[in-house]
Parts: sequence; structure tokens; C-alpha cells
Amino acid sequence: MLAGGCHCGAIRYELEGEAIVHALCHCTDCRRHAGAPMVGWTMYPQAAVKVTKGTPKVYASSEHGRRHFCADCGTGLFYINEQILPGIIDVQSATCDDPDAVPPQAHIQVAERIKWMERAHELPAFERFPPQS
Ligand SMILES: [Zn+2]
Ligand SMILES: [Zn+2]
Repeated sequence: MLAGGCHCGAIRYELEGEAIVHALCHCTDCRRHAGAPMVGWTMYPQAAVKVTKGTPKVYASSEHGRRHFCADCGTGLFYINEQILPGIIDVQSATCDDPDAVPPQAHIQVAERIKWMERAHELPAFERFPPQS
């Protein structure tokens, strides 16, 4: 049983069973809503996801797309689109208490990816911060 929640703790959820897929989405909608270069999504049947604390606010980000987030701290949590993916809920994977539990399997919507994201893994990396000069 995996659990997760928003940054402030007002909203908590539990995930039951296996994720259908975990994908890193590069679409413009996810990017603008999250304010981040990409967003990880683990897909589950709607019955597998239980909100155990609080009530997410729902934002209509497109005609049928519904983004659920914490109205107190702003963390994005769920995406539902009954038109394209009936019975399915996407969970923002980085909100999971153990985000390593389900590794991602694919990058999706790379047609809309920020150009520099394609080679972001080649950038210099530091355990914390670059040394001060
Ligand atoms: Zn919150
Ligand atoms: Zn997206």
C-alpha cells in the first residue's frame, strides 16, 4: 500500500494495487499547471485511489481535463479526463511518500517538450550545490 499527499499535509491519499503505468509528461498543460519542466504521472483505476484526508480543489484545465490540487499549499495531485480515459486517475508521482517505489517507464508528449530537457541529464550534477568560487 503506497501513500502520499500534498506539501502541507492537508490532503493525504492511499494507492491500492499495481500502477497501470508511470510516465513523465512533457505537455504544455502539465508544465504550466505545475510550474515545472515535466510532471510524473502514475496511472491507476479510480477505485484504487482513496483520499484519506482533506478534499482537493478541482480545476478544469481543458474542456474535459480536471486537475485536483491542494487549495492550501498548491500541490498538484490528480488528473482525471472522463472523455479520454474513463475510470482512470493519474496521480502526480512525486507526491508519493516513496517516489522510488514505482519507477517511470516512458517520456510522453515529447512533441511539446522544452528543447533543453532532451539533454538535461548531461548537465553537471552536484550532491548539494556547486562549489563557491
Ligand atoms: Zn496542501
Ligand atoms: Zn501532460
